[in-house]
Amino acid sequence: WNAAELVAKDIAHHLHPLTNLYQLRREGPLVLVRGEGVWVWDAEGKRYLDGFAGLWNVNIGHGRRELAEAAREQMERVAFVPTFFGLASPPTIELAARLAELFPGPLDHFQFTSGGAESNETAIKIARYYWWLKGQPERVKILSRRMAYHGIAMGALSATGVPAYWEGFGPRPPGFIHLTAPYKYRFGEGLTDEEFVARLVQELEETIEREGSETIAAFIGEPVQGAGGVVVPPDGYWPAIAAVLRKYGILLILDEVITGFGRTGTLFGMQQYGVQPDIVTFAKGITSGYVPLGGVGVSDEIAETLASADRVFMHGFTYSGHPVACAVALRNLDILLAERLWENAAASGAYLLQELKRLEERPYVGEVRGKGLMLLVEVVRDKASKEKFPPEFKLGPKLEAATRRRGIIVRCTPDGIVMAPPLTISRAECDVLIEGVAAALSDVLD
Ligand code: PLP
Repeated sequence: WNAAELVAKDIAHHLHPLTNLYQLRREGPLVLVRGEGVWVWDAEGKRYLDGFAGLWNVNIGHGRRELAEAAREQMERVAFVPTFFGLASPPTIELAARLAELFPGPLDHFQFTSGGAESNETAIKIARYYWWLKGQPERVKILSRRMAYHGIAMGALSATGVPAYWEGFGPRPPGFIHLTAPYKYRFGEGLTDEEFVARLVQELEETIEREGSETIAAFIGEPVQGAGGVVVPPDGYWPAIAAVLRKYGILLILDEVITGFGRTGTLFGMQQYGVQPDIVTFAKGITSGYVPLGGVGVSDEIAETLASADRVFMHGFTYSGHPVACAVALRNLDILLAERLWENAAASGAYLLQELKRLEERPYVGEVRGKGLMLLVEVVRDKASKEKFPPEFKLGPKLEAATRRRGIIVRCTPDGIVMAPPLTISRAECDVLIEGVAAALSDVLD
């Protein structure tokens, strides 16, 4: 390839998602052409540490030939079999059975999608359909949190709690209610963890009482909020929230799109907090991003209810349970389990957190927080007031340019620098990431 030609064609013809298209026209894309482990190379041969694992998803690292072989073998056998109309292929069936073994508790029944937003749409629709079949069709409302990210399709977007994703795309479907995020740094200052959790529980109970539990289908949340700002809840948060939901008979949907498959230091985020959802959604790490795949798992009780009606379940996507994607997922899970990669996520995550915490000495670092290999260095203009840099300062774009110059790819936002490297990252590679982040912050803010 010719790097300059690719850049010109991209600017002329490619509409990037989640990208400032105005800026892209002027600066062009960063074209990545090869990957190996935690490293990726651009079209001009420069090497970067992929400190964001693609989009939080390349859990087993780049360049694993076994996954390419799994895809080729399945494509040669039969590339596509639908799952509509009672059809199925072996990898799809095997994957559902494997997931039933891996997910804790009664999450034993799976429907597949092509990604996270489709999975959350499916979960929301299953929750409503469950109540409809149970003779409670008025149970439709969905509770979620501010700072949540559940994807950009209309239902998932409505559960998402970051207003920037809504601007210009209204109206949103009604029936979505947003609660406070368990973000202690900003919303629980001066409180103990117990006091902060008690306040969030009280808000939840008041909301349920106000709306009427008989109108609420489900509560959806990420075990650790990711894209909204790596919000790590206090340990007691999830058990306390789950207890309230149980009391009112409201279903709990956990969105494990980022936290699933090892990222937080256990196989699933729910295991960090000892909480058992009725419905789980996942994507990203199930294939380490080698091909698109997502899905929803439901409890035995929900599956029994769905199968209790002699009627067609009128939901699903052409690519629900794509055989090639499922074959790749099975091979990916073999690697993840054989290498016990969640253990390295826990150890490397603890090391990164400990080392990056030193940055809190700097006048512009408000807080460094993380769980496993989900980490954030939160940047503020003023530490005492926790005031953010104004949009005109363009903190995100400046940090993005500086980190890329320093040879690391991370997510840079108005809040600071987010990291989520592959779960295979070594101690020496952690040091490269730490040095790159520290140097880029100095480049922009010292
Ligand atoms: N849910 C969570 C927690 C996510 O982080 C994301 C994407 O980052 C999604 C859902 C949406 O996934 P997708 O982009 O595959 O639709």
